[in-house]
Amino acid sequence: MEKSSVPEKELNHILPANTLKTRMPQVAVSREVKPAPSRYRNEIAKFLIFRSDDCVHCGKCAEVCPYHVHVLKPGYKYFASPKSHLCIGNACEQADHFCVRACPQKALRMVENPMIKALGDYRWPADMLLATWKMAETGSPPPPECEYDYRVGRSEGGFDRIRFKFPEKPPVPIRDDEIDTGILLNRRDDGRPRLRIDVPWYGGGMSFGSVSNVTQLAKVRAAAAWNSFSCSGEGGYMERMRPYDDHMITQVATGLFGVREETIQRVPIIEFKYAQGAKPGLGGHLLGDKNTPAVAKIREAVVGISLFSPFPFHSVYSIEDHMKHIDWIKHVNRRALISTKVSTPTDVDMVAVGSYSAGTHIIHLDGGYGGTGAAPDIAKKNIAMPIEYAVAKVHRFLVDEGARDKVTLIASGGIRNAHDIAKAIALGADGVVVGTAELVALGCIRCSRCSAGRGCPRGIATTDPGLVTQMELEWATQRIVNLYSAWRQELVDILKRLGLRSVSELVGRTDLLMHLDYTNDEGR
Ligand code: SF4
Ligand code: SF4
Repeated sequence: MEKSSVPEKELNHILPANTLKTRMPQVAVSREVKPAPSRYRNEIAKFLIFRSDDCVHCGKCAEVCPYHVHVLKPGYKYFASPKSHLCIGNACEQADHFCVRACPQKALRMVENPMIKALGDYRWPADMLLATWKMAETGSPPPPECEYDYRVGRSEGGFDRIRFKFPEKPPVPIRDDEIDTGILLNRRDDGRPRLRIDVPWYGGGMSFGSVSNVTQLAKVRAAAAWNSFSCSGEGGYMERMRPYDDHMITQVATGLFGVREETIQRVPIIEFKYAQGAKPGLGGHLLGDKNTPAVAKIREAVVGISLFSPFPFHSVYSIEDHMKHIDWIKHVNRRALISTKVSTPTDVDMVAVGSYSAGTHIIHLDGGYGGTGAAPDIAKKNIAMPIEYAVAKVHRFLVDEGARDKVTLIASGGIRNAHDIAKAIALGADGVVVGTAELVALGCIRCSRCSAGRGCPRGIATTDPGLVTQMELEWATQRIVNLYSAWRQELVDILKRLGLRSVSELVGRTDLLMHLDYTNDEGR
């Protein structure tokens, strides 16, 4: 079934073994977890602790609280304002160390922060944001005493209505170190590298311009730490990222911004972006405000003008055209794997099989739940098929066509945590691409201002030189490294509870899932 206009072995004669002339030494990044607390003095807290003027600074609260909410700095006479974001709240009321009760002056008061009601949205409720921040800070799943309800959102659809059917106890005892969370990205046996990543996810495409250079760089450094990948998005990438080329995916999208032979030759994976799940049929649009001199240089564009990536590729109207595209890239970079990113129209299964036969290594299905604040709601909510249907449909069709074990299926669009990752895999994906979750790790508050002028208030999705300095690279890298570590621990726990020794054993196991629309069981 597989066809290619130029067989690989002929290609070997056409091009020299190493087509890359300008390779840079690659830099390793540690995946060691280190504390990375919030970069803001007053992190948003679920509970607030107030200390009244009745306080006589006796120190009893600091003595009892195991979470270090009350701090008397050395040499100071008075306590600093309570660090409310460290407080576990209601769960403490029953404990012996409840400071409010322990205070002899009755000077302490604990209330639920009213701001929490306004934080987040249905897909990313406040508890999910807080839990993700906690994971990015500590590198571990949130402690149970925090009582975050973070595994599902409140959208009443998608992954929020799907649960695992966990057995009462694990069917077989498995140790953590026996579980394999890695996945293979090249399953074609075509002589190209059999790239393997240590976790079943990689970072999604966010272009320089849509996000800051610090954000892009932190993403790829975390990917390097976890032996995974990060996608540059459309528009090429900065020289500063070249020491991490081995973990970069670069995109060829409809605007062809930043696409040069030299950039294609640098990286191990090239992604054709045909559409984005959050705005299928709408193409891309970088507002003029964000097109700073640095962005314009990489995109080879004029500073300050809005940049459009049309929909669709006007050079591709058939699978044969797609095959021509793939052959082009395979000629330019003999080592590269090809990923094809599509949204989820109702005939996405046909698109996937066509793309496989055209020679792609990775079929990347992008559903509509994701996207930053730059994607209009009307597109997100009304155009493409929900990702959970698309993944299952494509997986089954590839199995029926005998092609499933020759291609890697990746799902994206609204993957928020380890539970979503596991659900997407059980539906039929080999792995997933994550996007917003990485931004949340950096402190994103889901305010949906990503495309508004230069002004992401958190300095993440911005090119404003002043706002960008809010975030320090080492801190940002560590936050994403920590989040990945926490996710891996949760994924290992899910696999253990299901009695599975590897992520690949979970692929397509829809029998382990239930949909709440069709059961009275609320699941575990
Ligand atoms: S309520 Fe408990 S966790 Fe919160 S500050 Fe007081 S002692 Fe610490
Ligand atoms: S905090 Fe920044 S990245 Fe997050 S939604 Fe707001 S503008 Fe976008």
